[in-house]
Amino acid sequence: MVWHLTQTGVNKDSLLENESLYALGNGYIGVRGNFEEGYKQGMTSVRGTYINAFHDVTGIEYGEKLHAFPETQQKLLNVIDAQTVEIYINGERFSVFDGTVLNYEQNLYFDKGYSERIIEWESPQGAKVKLHFRRVVSFVTRELFAINVKIEPLSKVNTIKVWSELNGDVSNFTDPNDPRVASGHAKRLTVEEVDGSHQQAVIVNKTLASNLSAACVSESTCTPGYEYKCEITSGRVQDHYTWETNEAVEFTKKNVFTDTLRHGEDLKQQAFKVQNEIGDKLFETLLQEQEDYLNNFWNHADVQVEGDDKLQEGIRFNLFHLLQSVGKDSVSNIAAKGLSGEGYEGHYFWDTEIYMFPVFLMTNPELAKKLLLHRYSVLEAAKERAKEVGHAKGALFSWRTITGSECSAFFPAGTAQYHISADIAYSYIQYYLVTGDNSFMKEYGAEVLAETARLWLDTGHFHKDQFRIDDVTGPDEYTCIVNNNYFTNAMAKHNLKWAAKVINQNTDKMRELNVTENEVKEWEEAAEMMYLPYDEELGINAQDDTFLQKKVWDLKNTPADKYPLLLNYHPLTLYRYQVCKQADTVLSHFLLEDEQDIDTIRRSYDYYEKVTTHDSSLSYCVYSIMAAKLGYDDKAYNYFMETARLDLDNTHGNTKDGLHMANMGGTWLSIVFGFGGVRIKEDGLFFSPSLPSQLNGINFNMTYQDRLIKVILQPEQVEYRLLEGEPLTIHHFNESVKLESKLRFEL
Ligand code: BGC
Repeated sequence: MVWHLTQTGVNKDSLLENESLYALGNGYIGVRGNFEEGYKQGMTSVRGTYINAFHDVTGIEYGEKLHAFPETQQKLLNVIDAQTVEIYINGERFSVFDGTVLNYEQNLYFDKGYSERIIEWESPQGAKVKLHFRRVVSFVTRELFAINVKIEPLSKVNTIKVWSELNGDVSNFTDPNDPRVASGHAKRLTVEEVDGSHQQAVIVNKTLASNLSAACVSESTCTPGYEYKCEITSGRVQDHYTWETNEAVEFTKKNVFTDTLRHGEDLKQQAFKVQNEIGDKLFETLLQEQEDYLNNFWNHADVQVEGDDKLQEGIRFNLFHLLQSVGKDSVSNIAAKGLSGEGYEGHYFWDTEIYMFPVFLMTNPELAKKLLLHRYSVLEAAKERAKEVGHAKGALFSWRTITGSECSAFFPAGTAQYHISADIAYSYIQYYLVTGDNSFMKEYGAEVLAETARLWLDTGHFHKDQFRIDDVTGPDEYTCIVNNNYFTNAMAKHNLKWAAKVINQNTDKMRELNVTENEVKEWEEAAEMMYLPYDEELGINAQDDTFLQKKVWDLKNTPADKYPLLLNYHPLTLYRYQVCKQADTVLSHFLLEDEQDIDTIRRSYDYYEKVTTHDSSLSYCVYSIMAAKLGYDDKAYNYFMETARLDLDNTHGNTKDGLHMANMGGTWLSIVFGFGGVRIKEDGLFFSPSLPSQLNGINFNMTYQDRLIKVILQPEQVEYRLLEGEPLTIHHFNESVKLESKLRFEL
């Protein structure tokens, strides 16, 4: 039933991609799937361990720096490396690139939550061994990353040696030629403390500028009968274990990471404390805990497709990695690449609210709440940013950030994407609709909605009988700084409308936030009068005031090697054409479908599809969802297939920099909102399912207002099952029906 990713044989050409694919994480720590023993000299590896939100601050250098351009940015750091375990058989160092690999298998288990490599190896001198590496990043003890290695002689051997290292002398990866990867500031950590003895290693690192520290306390246990030696060299603790034996030996290394953001200044003591709590738990016990945690997760989140194993693998792989990446402590969020790589430097974008948050909202609302709380924790920074940029009031959330301050040095496709503030507001509204949690809305949501509404009022202006928003950038990054981006205006309208509604319902909050009645009135008016561009001739929503007047980019005659366009054309060239990097107006038709009639939505889809490159991986799922709505079955399926295996098949060519988390969320969205036709609205839960002919059936679970609902979608029928909770009224297409235990409809 496809619960794992498996690779047999070592492919030298896909090592870097595999490091991302086999990454492990728990939302706090992330460890790339590097080989414990490393590669050979001269071979590139992005050897990485990350702590979500653990960053340094670096200066941004501009040739010409204008007012309120951010001066600094944050960078997720590669922290202390605990991965290294080298193995020597009769003095010969094990490497899959030397001697002969007789058998090789690498697995990542989505249901059990660990990865492994099983290798049968013959050394250059002819000694044969079986090596079994397993590693787990615990969902139960968030600070823990453990490795277990079994070494079993398959021929006569005399000595087995394990050489295990904890390395604080680490750097980040850089690539000066790719704007999606950092180009400098590789070494940002200094070693403050290094200590080792008795199979215990301790390293404390400190950042150069952000004044944060990270610690790792690593403890090892192994088969008795060895000789032990510990060496400490510049920032590294190296343990040597040697057995004079021909029997199997086992080695376990438990690495506990802590940092000042979560554990305060006594982070080292906290790491010891966690080690004590873990005590002598066996590796197998850690695996059992992991499996129990995941059983619960999959009970709520699993999606099954019938008859297509590759697809099933993609869906579960994507969901598993989402769970591994989501910050679960409200100190952190979900980085664009999760914790699987350094692309986009560990920054959080609108990707969270629009592409990933809904997955958690409808499978594990508690985790979704943590994401909202994280954004709430940076609300003050957003207010600060609004002021810097010149607004009298309101909150402008940063386009890309870790701590809340703006990290984008390229404002046309960064700060100008004001829509992120409305996207965050949208996620608070969705949370409220799905959970019905009034008190959360009052305590946190009201303020976020009010402050973002204030931003819109201050950004836009009334002109004649319209409210208009000038000089912003919508989601499509190939069209920048425009007036009246349809997406932005529609989202701002929703934001303003809900802010007024929530504040009107909570008058004490109104006083607390110093919101005046006049302000609320203005929000209502602005929402009411919001200008949503519409082109009469084409019968579509114009992406903005000038988009449809531009020359159309000739996509058909653009050579394949010129994609993605952003790496091959100056931004100004792109801005002068009708060409989209990603879904923009079409996305808004998904998020706010009741703003337009179906014919406008259809014509808009047909139009924008022809000018969209999908150079951003955030695009396919939106086109799949909307194709499903419009009854374009083949398209719905084809776009969906682009999302499901994007990283597994490295179709965007940059999986090595980390996984495309928003797209991974998009796979789930395509199933639930696309094929399931689910919509969350003020008047309830709506389904309009349709299964593409290429699929035999899909089942998925979702939570809604304390219920667990199963949807079983077959070619000609759909069944809704209430697995947990009280009966409720749902809407099947436009029919309202009461779901008590089971309902079945012909399609
Ligand atoms: C996309 C943005 C996205 C960012 C991070 C860019 O390529 O255009 O929409 O937020 O990647 O994933």
